[in-house]
Order: sequence, then C-alpha cells, then structure tokens
Amino acid sequence: MTSALACDLTVGYQGIAVARDVSLEIERGQVVTILGPNGAGKTTLLLTLAGFLPVIEGTINVGGRPIRDGSARRLNRAGVVLVPDNRALFTQLTVTENLAVAKRGCGREGPSVSEVLDLFPPLHPRVRLDAGMLSGGEQQMLALARALVQGPRVLLIDEMSMGLAPVVVEALMPTIRTIADEAGTAVVLVEQHVRLALEVADYALVMVHGDVVLHDRAVALRNDMSALEKAYLTATLA
Ligand code: ATP
Repeated sequence: MTSALACDLTVGYQGIAVARDVSLEIERGQVVTILGPNGAGKTTLLLTLAGFLPVIEGTINVGGRPIRDGSARRLNRAGVVLVPDNRALFTQLTVTENLAVAKRGCGREGPSVSEVLDLFPPLHPRVRLDAGMLSGGEQQMLALARALVQGPRVLLIDEMSMGLAPVVVEALMPTIRTIADEAGTAVVLVEQHVRLALEVADYALVMVHGDVVLHDRAVALRNDMSALEKAYLTATLA
C-alpha cells in the first residue's frame, strides 16, 4: 500500500541539525504519536513536514510522491495540513469566517463546513462568535475544524493539549481517532499527554535530544510503560 506520508529527515535551523534520521511511514487512517521531552525536536520535525522550515537532509513523500522542494505551498497542495501549537486563528473573525477562509484557500474538495462542525458539537452555538471570544478548548476545536475543512490527507497536530485542562484534552482526544477512522486521514500527533496519546495512536515514536530512541506499537507501550519511562529518564539524566 502507498504510504500517506513517508519521510527520512534531518531537521533543524540555518543548516544546523536538531534532529537526525527521523523516519516515518504512515498509512491512510493511521495515527502516529511523537513523544519526547522538551527540546527533543518534535516541533521542528512538524514544521519541516509542513514546509515551514527547509529540509536539511532527506526526503518527504506524500501519497507516494516526493515533494522535492519541500515548500509549504507544495506540501499543502499535496494534502499536508498543520495545526500549530499556537492555533493561529483569526481571532477577530467568527468561527464560520475562520472556516470559510480556510476552505477557500485550500483549493481542494473537502468536507463541508457543516460536516466538520458535526464533529464538534460545542462549537454549534458559537459559530457567530469571534474566535478570540472562545474558550481554550473551543479554540482548539476550531483549529482542528479549520484543518479538516481542507480535506487533509495528512494532519500534523502540535501539542493539541497546550494550555487546556486535562478534562478538556480527554474529551477532545478521541476526535483524533474518529478523524483517522472516518476520513482515512493519516495523523501525526505531537503530544505531552503520553497516556492519552497512546490511547488513540497506532504507533508511537519517542525522540530524545534529536534522536529517535523508541518506535513501537502504541498498544505495546501502553501495556508496558517501562520502556517509555526509561527513555524519558535517560533524557533527564543526560
Ligand atoms: P517542546 O516539547 O518543548 O515543544 P520540542 O521537542 O518540540 O520541544 P523543538 O521546539 O523542536 O523541541 O526544539 C528542538 C531544538 O531546537 C531545541 O534545542 C530548541 O532550542 C531549538 N530551536 C527551536 N527553535 C529554534 C530556532 N528558531 N532557532 C534555532 N534553534 C531553535
């Protein structure tokens, strides 16, 4: 089967690597979570996969095709959509306007705004409010919805839980599984809430100081957390 996303990358800033030889191969409908302590290079990897940072070395394939220049425009056209950790909403536009702008800009047939909003019932009574007036959890729902109206083939989600109460994260996380299962979207989920991420992921990859130190099925790591604990402990002792 052709992978939705395949890469083997060295990533970093101004030609200086912060993470090396990160290989990913994700099928349609799979969720891969990228775990690891602060500074491991997770955000840098996502920014590179979305084309916002140039590739230092390696390749990105989307749907079996190499995206040679690695530009944000090319990657987005190929179906890669990033939900950044700061959400980057238009705070002075309404919920509906945020979604309409994203849908218009993507140049792709995707689900309708109302189909996407069905995934996020708490947004229904808020559609006429400015995004800046939403709660943190509602803003995160809108950031996800804005990505989904673009009909992504690959969804990159950076720290969805940032600034949210654990109960909100717990409520939101199963939506990631639904997106993968129902739309066949391949999801890369960078997350600090390790247990919750492992609940919805198929595979997990642990990065420490720019190296991939562990790569396994999420269920295996969920059932035996010792390997994960060891990886995190190594990071704090290093
Ligand atoms: P966190 O969980 O804290 O978000 P992370 O795993 O996402 O961490 P990155 O943000 O990718 O880690 O950072 C990886 C390394 O790159 C860190 O050492 C960081 O200091 C460095 N870095 C981040 N942004 C820049 C930048 N704009 N220029 C140079 N180095 C940077």
